[in-house]
Amino acid sequence: MLKKYFVGIVAISVFTTLFSCHNIIGSTKDDLQDSVLIENEEEELVAKKDTVKLMDILDSLNRGKITFPALDSINKIDPKVAKRRFRDSIYNELNKKEKHIYLTFDDGPLIGSRAIDSIATFKHAKVNAFVVGRHANMSKRLKNDLQRYKDNPLVEVYNHSYTHAANRFHAFYSNPDMAYADFAKCETDLGLTHKIVRMPGRNIWLFDDTRRIDLASGGQTADLLGINGFKIYGWDVEWKINGLSGNPVQSVNEIYTRIKNMLGNKSTLKPNNVVLLMHDDMFQNVKGQHLLTSLIDSLKQHKDYKFEFMSNYPVKY
Ligand SMILES: [Zn+2]
Repeated sequence: MLKKYFVGIVAISVFTTLFSCHNIIGSTKDDLQDSVLIENEEEELVAKKDTVKLMDILDSLNRGKITFPALDSINKIDPKVAKRRFRDSIYNELNKKEKHIYLTFDDGPLIGSRAIDSIATFKHAKVNAFVVGRHANMSKRLKNDLQRYKDNPLVEVYNHSYTHAANRFHAFYSNPDMAYADFAKCETDLGLTHKIVRMPGRNIWLFDDTRRIDLASGGQTADLLGINGFKIYGWDVEWKINGLSGNPVQSVNEIYTRIKNMLGNKSTLKPNNVVLLMHDDMFQNVKGQHLLTSLIDSLKQHKDYKFEFMSNYPVKY
């Protein structure tokens, strides 16, 4: 119990330091130290003062690991109100920090990859390409397009499997060893240097202490990749465009607004970090390419938005 109490105190001490003079929930710092407990001993991680991050505290709060005492004659603040104020205070602090946007493109190299590579350079925006081994070996042109990605310092290339599961995802993931071998083949065939994967047909996240599985059938393959040192990243938002017509399912403004709102209301997997999924074949004509340029321009209006590589995900505060 003492240990648990200590954790709470340290977390809140660090937090109150961040807030300097003003207090968080209308109490004094000492009141806060007395009133907030972290119930789970796993939260000892939080106790290392120099590694405490606002986002980790928010995560603990959201998972119900920080509790507020019941309303009684001593504690005048309703615990629900206290919790809300505490969360709002963290949000306010996070809102002052930089926001990190990960533009990710799946299924390349395909027609469209060359345009993405050029737009990254022209707009000086970092982009992330999750490539399919088989596509790179389909033609000399596509092999060259992969090489362009690799040679561009604004592009990082990651693993999206060799066969893309032949688009039969359930069957593919029903044999985790074969599925794992497919990712390994992509890595060696294409000479990929980052151990970063996006799983075809699945929005799965597996890195550090995060494990989010959208469909159970991908779970074992994800764990096998994790055991072998891969990090797996899904996405927060998907943008769809009809690659042939160049007509977007969601307009630039819809996607831009969605990203802005998700950053504002902290509904991404990790606050202040938003991962946008697109596909290389969306940008095979000028119409589609113009939309991508427009989106980047819209996002660039915000001086606190930064384009990032997935290898830096998540940037924490
Ligand atoms: Zn894909």
